[in-house]
Amino acid sequence: MPDVYAIPLTTRFRGITVREGMLLRGPAGWGEFCPFADYDDRESVPWLAAAREAAEEGWPAPVRERVPVNCIVPAVGPQRAQEIVRASGCATAKVKVADAPGSLPADLERVAAVRDALGPAGAVRVDANAAWTVDEAVAAIRELDRAAGGLQYVEQPCRSVEELAAVRRRVDTPIAADESIRRAEDPLRVAVAGAADIAVLKCAPLGGVRRALAVAEACGLPCVVSSALETSVGMAAELALAGALPQLDMACGLGTGALLTTDVVAEAFVPRDGWLPVPRSAPEPVLRDRVAAVPERELWWRERLARVDAHTRG
Ligand SMILES: [Mg+2]
Repeated sequence: MPDVYAIPLTTRFRGITVREGMLLRGPAGWGEFCPFADYDDRESVPWLAAAREAAEEGWPAPVRERVPVNCIVPAVGPQRAQEIVRASGCATAKVKVADAPGSLPADLERVAAVRDALGPAGAVRVDANAAWTVDEAVAAIRELDRAAGGLQYVEQPCRSVEELAAVRRRVDTPIAADESIRRAEDPLRVAVAGAADIAVLKCAPLGGVRRALAVAEACGLPCVVSSALETSVGMAAELALAGALPQLDMACGLGTGALLTTDVVAEAFVPRDGWLPVPRSAPEPVLRDRVAAVPERELWWRERLARVDAHTRG
């Protein structure tokens, strides 16, 4: 019987305050089915494939035992930003920018403060979550790069693949594609269009570890693995992907366990000194009662699962 969970977030993220999803059990262990509410049934099919891969098949063998992760700096003031970086022990920081119109002066202050806390050897990357136009992106990226003393990359500056390609032609800072890969009919179009230097991969929306590895190979770009804000059960699959990528030169965005107020496992995947281990299977969810969803939401998820399953078959 699948289990539906509802876990409050420590801070608002993607417009939500509670993360919901389902845990599925199969012969290989536990998988997590947790498309965000704005994904329709058809878009949720790969999420179910990823959960079933974990539960029924398991994952390919890893080539590394642990992966470096970035700390996450939300749209906070410079002092708080430095506290977050120092407390994390991470050598890479991902800084949220373009959170609201007119935020650039505060963004510049934040990235400068983060560079200060990381030191010259650290890496600063920013994520605009598709907020800018092409001209806004070009202007902001030049200023942010200067304030940060060099950016590692800018994640998803604009919405469309064409816009990413246009920005990329006009700035020297590397461009990473996230939303463009996650919700694309064809994730490889990003590479073909010359729209990005780096691909952000998440195995849940790409249909599992094996399919994400195939995307990584076919796109030919350096990859980082990022979470879909899963519990530690789904996070185990993202870590398995990061552990199995033939090449991994940059920190992954898998430190999001700290955004959940609690987890379904006894020992959650929370980074230690900027690293997470690569597990061979998902940890056993032993705290399911504590995070059980109310009956109406449980019913909603069961019906969603049945509809997405029908899509998978039909
Ligand atoms: Mg992103």
